[in-house]
Amino acid sequence: MNTSKYIFVTGGVSSSLGKGIISASLARLLQARGYSVTIQKLDPYININPGTLDPYEHGECYVTDDGAEADLDLGHYERFLNIATSQANSVTTGRIYQSVIDKERRGGYNGMTVQVIPHITDEIKNRIKLLGNTGKYDFIITEIGGTVGDIESLPYIEAVRQLRWELHNECAMIHLTLVPYLAAADELKTKPTQHSVKMLQEQGVQPDIIVCRTSHHMTQGMKNKISLFCNVPSTAVIESMDAQSIYDVPFMMFEEGLDEEVLRKFNLPLDHEPDLTDWKHFLNCVKNPEKTVDIALVGKYVELKDSYKSIIEAFIHAGAANNCKVKLKMVQSEHIKKENIDEMLKDVSAILVAPGSGSRGIEGKIETIRYAREQKIPFFGICLGMQCAVIEFARNVLGYDDADSVEFNPETPYPVINVMEEQKKAAGMKDIIRLGAYPCEIAQGSKVFEAYHSELVYERHRHPYEFNNDYAEAFTQAGMKMSGINKQDNFVEIIELDNHPWFIATQFHPEYKSTVINPHPLFVHFVAEAVKQKERTT
Ligand code: GLN
Repeated sequence: MNTSKYIFVTGGVSSSLGKGIISASLARLLQARGYSVTIQKLDPYININPGTLDPYEHGECYVTDDGAEADLDLGHYERFLNIATSQANSVTTGRIYQSVIDKERRGGYNGMTVQVIPHITDEIKNRIKLLGNTGKYDFIITEIGGTVGDIESLPYIEAVRQLRWELHNECAMIHLTLVPYLAAADELKTKPTQHSVKMLQEQGVQPDIIVCRTSHHMTQGMKNKISLFCNVPSTAVIESMDAQSIYDVPFMMFEEGLDEEVLRKFNLPLDHEPDLTDWKHFLNCVKNPEKTVDIALVGKYVELKDSYKSIIEAFIHAGAANNCKVKLKMVQSEHIKKENIDEMLKDVSAILVAPGSGSRGIEGKIETIRYAREQKIPFFGICLGMQCAVIEFARNVLGYDDADSVEFNPETPYPVINVMEEQKKAAGMKDIIRLGAYPCEIAQGSKVFEAYHSELVYERHRHPYEFNNDYAEAFTQAGMKMSGINKQDNFVEIIELDNHPWFIATQFHPEYKSTVINPHPLFVHFVAEAVKQKERTT
């Protein structure tokens, strides 16, 4: 196509209706029809990015190759589309205001009064068009966070209104609403949808397609009613039933004709169907696994599954690749003590220790790692999970009493995890967090090499602390292998133990790069080891 088409997705009536999954599913369908697609998320909060948000508040912070700390929906986009997103795919009100204020300070507005309209809305429109201007995409899907009617989303809806006016037929608008089921009346209700669309219309925007999230099937009569009250054809009223798995949604949207409706809106041909062969195969493995395995996910945010979204999804991908359902046991690391560890972890065939920051739950994680190492249970540590594995090894194998990370004990006599000098230099002492993808060289003959089949990989990071190379020799001599190294800065990126079935920990986050089509090799191998462990022990 010679020009990019823009599709906007808004939400009404309630939050958490799954705009991200609807956007990703539509994108997947268009991609499966041969179009190039990307998805962008506009978040109406004032934080510059979710990097500083508490995971309990906002779920996981996703990280892109180019180091954006982004909303977890970007993870869904990558997992569904199997293409990398970037800084341009994640925009917040904070960032918009920051650019406008910076420009004002530089004198960039020539003495004008700087206002929400046109300056903030212009900045929003620029951010939307940035992806279109690359010339790489046939479709840009822009998901607008929040719910129509929120004060915070007003400038975004206004920017969309202006863009539709400017770009005429190059834009489509999808509104996702809730059609609630009232048990007492035994009925679905369309009124909230009508009100939500009215609110959008008051703001000058007419949706082209209305997607209705519901727990019960809608009748054609209800679709006709929404069509009549909301000025859309009844074929453009799409039912979105609660799904068993998020990976069902592309098929459900195809059945309902969402992609067809979009193509019709843009006068694009409907002559062939999307090719979803590999997706179908994956879903079949997810739904009809030959075996099951129990794996513990030990972390401090386990009460809220969104905090470990990418890890949980990576297990679904790796499970499917092994024809196996991974049953995750979420274990609160704060509750783990030497006395109860056997009881808490006795039913699992493998253990993953999660990323995180701060000292809460650290001792439980270290105890868990000791248990996995001594009992020879397959172990996978990610980021903080690797740092805890280093501390555990220092204390219990090397006999370094009180070894620690300077994050938890700046006075430790053995700072085995430290802020490295190279890193301070690279970041100019200012912002020492290491963010985004970095190269990692893989040692031949290591277990990770067996998984990657590659001597060089790029993985994503998000951490200020590192393994302290002053201790590298002592660790290596005692049997801990440094099997992944960033040669540029001499950072240890992967550790593993030889005298153990599978004990691997990474300073990076492999979970961010696992997709439906490309399950992450370390997760795939870890699940395979868990299956072997189950066979060994039952
Ligand atoms: N808190 C650790 C650090 O800052 C680990 C961070 C993480 O797990 N993402 O280095």
